[in-house]
Amino acid sequence: MKMSQVKAIGFSLIAVGIILMLIAILLPENWWTPILCILGLAANIGGQGFFFFKWKCPHCLSHLPASGMLGMKHCPYCGNEL
Ligand SMILES: [Zn+2]
Repeated sequence: MKMSQVKAIGFSLIAVGIILMLIAILLPENWWTPILCILGLAANIGGQGFFFFKWKCPHCLSHLPASGMLGMKHCPYCGNEL
């Protein structure tokens, strides 16, 4: 899997989780409000977990740092292109 795909999937899951939780907070309380909160939290945790397991250098398999991940072009450990 390409690193751009990992970033797209991980950030999408986190964004969907935040949007679901915001909808649950902003709309008046209803029977589905806790379900929205749980789904949002699950999507958010899923995105974080996806990054935890997939945000690795494809060459040396070391976990890449989270800071500076948007503009990261080369692995900081082995120097190969991501
Ligand atoms: Zn590397």
